[in-house]
Amino acid sequence: MTAHICVARIGAAHGVRGAVKLWTFTEDPFAVKQYGPLATKDGVRQFEVTQAREARDHLVASFKGVTTREQAERLNGIELYVARDRLPATEEGEYYHADLIGLAAVTAADEPIGRVVAIHNFGAGDIIEIVPPHGPTLLLPFTDAVVPTVDIAGGRVVIDQPAEIEGEERSQRTFEMTDPSPWRATVLTLFPEMFPGPLGVSLAGRALVSGLWALETRDIRASATDRHRSVDDTPAGGGPGMVLRADVLAAAIDATGVAPDRPRLLMSPRGRPLTQARVRELVGSPGPLIVCGRFEGIDQRVIEARGLEEVSMGDYVLSGGEIAAFALIDACVRLLPGVMGKAESGDDESFSASLLEYPQYTRPQVFEGRPIPEVLVSGDHAKVAAWRRAEAEALTRTRRPDLWAATARSQKHSKNATDG
Ligand code: SAH
Repeated sequence: MTAHICVARIGAAHGVRGAVKLWTFTEDPFAVKQYGPLATKDGVRQFEVTQAREARDHLVASFKGVTTREQAERLNGIELYVARDRLPATEEGEYYHADLIGLAAVTAADEPIGRVVAIHNFGAGDIIEIVPPHGPTLLLPFTDAVVPTVDIAGGRVVIDQPAEIEGEERSQRTFEMTDPSPWRATVLTLFPEMFPGPLGVSLAGRALVSGLWALETRDIRASATDRHRSVDDTPAGGGPGMVLRADVLAAAIDATGVAPDRPRLLMSPRGRPLTQARVRELVGSPGPLIVCGRFEGIDQRVIEARGLEEVSMGDYVLSGGEIAAFALIDACVRLLPGVMGKAESGDDESFSASLLEYPQYTRPQVFEGRPIPEVLVSGDHAKVAAWRRAEAEALTRTRRPDLWAATARSQKHSKNATDG
């Protein structure tokens, strides 16, 4: 058993007096005040919560001895642990997720199936996620029938998969059983250790933890076949650099077993630049497979043979597709139902109506002699809306004539359509 349980993670500094955002993982968010000092995983640093108040979806907390913003900023990202014996004991059949994650999953006959990587709850009971050495992850109901034995001391859980979901279609059937399965991004990369990276914090990170979306990262190198596990080779026809081999990448794509209705994307500077409209389409899909290139790129034949859609992040060259994939996934995840605080906050921003967003203001009322535009504090909602529209149009016209021309064209079209 793990002797320490992670109960919270420190986020960004809040204000100037040393407060921080605190993401708590306990049922009662304020429980972190009752455990006594919280410690880093290695136990070296201790933190005592002196004050905590609830903010939108996190706490704003102060720690003893942390009084300046600079001190607070240095704490960002620290995970806080509590000794297990200070937490309430679990009831029969209840487990801390931290104890389950990492256990070996075996059959009743003790044959290995994979490893437990997460426990989810999508609203219809707990789901245990198991990653086998090959093939897609298994999402199974965490029930007595399917998981008859949890042997934490022995490092294993016994999985009793119903007979009808054995065999090739196993994972697909499993998904059906545990519907609704969340939006899922499957990333093929040579650097799986980069994930979830920035997708593991803040909005996307919390949504990931709470099962509103799922991330599968697959190492392309696992599909290399030669002794040196090589994935690249010199470009045919000569030239600098290396090219990702078609056979290795195709095998890696095939090994994911991704369903045919999922978009298959290749991050590529030659692709069509990503737009908010395409992001919305991707959000409406079951979630994409995303191939991250490296080196000089990938063999053209695998793009054709696996029907990869090339997607670009802009007219510049990155050293690999991973950072582009972060951006794409982030843009999608924030639009998933339940991820953003207010459902409408996705509709009113840049690009939603092919317009850049109007300028935003908040307190203080006067900043270095600059007041907030008067109309915004007038309380007249119609005037506010008209002002914002005019500002958005003016900004789009001057900064993005390309977008503005497209907006004007589409407005003309819809006008013709209604006139005719
Ligand atoms: N030689 C290629 C660039 C390769 S960069 C060319 O000139 O087109 C290596 C990898 O980084 C690419 O395979 C791609 O996956 C990723 N990448 C680089 N720039 C990108 C961009 N603007 N958008 C999306 N992916 C990009």
